[in-house]
Amino acid sequence: MNSVTTRFAPSPTGHLHVGNIRTALHNWLLAKQAGGRFLLRIDDTDSERSREHFVDAIREDLDWLGLSPDGEERQSARFDDYEREFERLAAEGRIYPCYETPQELELRRKVLLGRGLPPIYDRAALELSEARRAELEASGTRPHWRFKLDHASPITWQDGIRGKQYFDPAQLSDPVVRRADGSWLYMLPSVIDDIAMDITDVLRGEDHVSNTATQIQMFEALGAPPPRFAHEALLTGAQGKLSKRIGSLSVSQFRADGIEPEAVVALLARIGTSDPVDPSLGLDELATSFDLTRFGRAPARFDEAELDRVNTAIVHGLGYDAVGQRLPDGMGEAGWEAIRPNIERVEQAGDWWKVVKGPVPLPPADDETRAYLAEAAVTLNEQDGGDDPWHALTGALKAATGRKGKALFLPLRQALTGRDHGPDMALMLKLIGRDEAITRLWSASGRE
Ligand code: GLU
Repeated sequence: MNSVTTRFAPSPTGHLHVGNIRTALHNWLLAKQAGGRFLLRIDDTDSERSREHFVDAIREDLDWLGLSPDGEERQSARFDDYEREFERLAAEGRIYPCYETPQELELRRKVLLGRGLPPIYDRAALELSEARRAELEASGTRPHWRFKLDHASPITWQDGIRGKQYFDPAQLSDPVVRRADGSWLYMLPSVIDDIAMDITDVLRGEDHVSNTATQIQMFEALGAPPPRFAHEALLTGAQGKLSKRIGSLSVSQFRADGIEPEAVVALLARIGTSDPVDPSLGLDELATSFDLTRFGRAPARFDEAELDRVNTAIVHGLGYDAVGQRLPDGMGEAGWEAIRPNIERVEQAGDWWKVVKGPVPLPPADDETRAYLAEAAVTLNEQDGGDDPWHALTGALKAATGRKGKALFLPLRQALTGRDHGPDMALMLKLIGRDEAITRLWSASGRE
């Protein structure tokens, strides 16, 4: 297989958080850039903790972000394959049974640490005599299984982000691949899947670096060339620390906060690089410019304030076609165009639409202002409206009263919208409509 195939492999034991979303996005971008495939692999070997509603949520989240997979696989449907490969490796002696209890292992760990030694599994299970093993089996002790690392083959790979990596397998514990109850740990099934699904590139967090070292030997043991690997730096909060908030930032939280998927994507595509975030870039453009070598090894900072800024820029660029369905009934293109520059979230359009529709609170006004507003009502009533009633009105009032600047505009804005700031009044007046505007000016003037 020459073409690129990547996978995103979440465990359905919770909602995707921002770190998972970054991994999914980067795998999507890597695949699409090469015209390749992006697979969703549901890592649900842990039937105790996996939940179907989380699987649905993962699909929905990817869909909302625009990261639709080209195929979906489930580990729980592939147990036969794992069993077959397991038998093969066990027959070859690359997987071996171990009978230690967790307490025994913990004790040995402590002893080693106490002596200042690394807590590497001592392979005591390999020394068991046949007779002792038979005895243990006869007493009903079920073994767990470890993959036997080849100590004679140093492990190296060229990491797409971290550069050349080197591990001495003798410094690693043989990883447990299967529990005594027959259930699978993540390590071996993942490799079996990566081979079966022709995965060419594994891009994941740096918490998997040492897993990669042992998995590379599993690829070799299974007779397959390892894929390319790249490990991304951890995502931290703006303060540079791992924050609880980062762990809880999910797609549903973004949605609840009124964040657009384009903003999440634009920010997460560039986070960890020194390249600027460009709110105008969509997924396809981001794929074209995606470059793993731009990512550094320093922790990538996720700054919610930056997400807000990117989101606002995106909202300001959204056309009516893109948001029409999310706007209040009756709010047409002119309404959106008028209000768009004054909001940071699409949902805030509704607040301004209420201002357009009224009623609006009466502003406190002194006698002089009330007289001015009465004059404004009369003036607006006398004018024929024309194309630009606001400039016609304020032009006439300026000439008649000598008011200018704030004294000219602010009382009108307050009377018409009930607020001191807001969208362009020339557009607002047209949306409010001439008759309603006269009514508002008149009631703010205190005249009945
Ligand atoms: N289910 C694993 C995880 O979420 C997948 C890791 C991988 O990408 O291989 O950590």
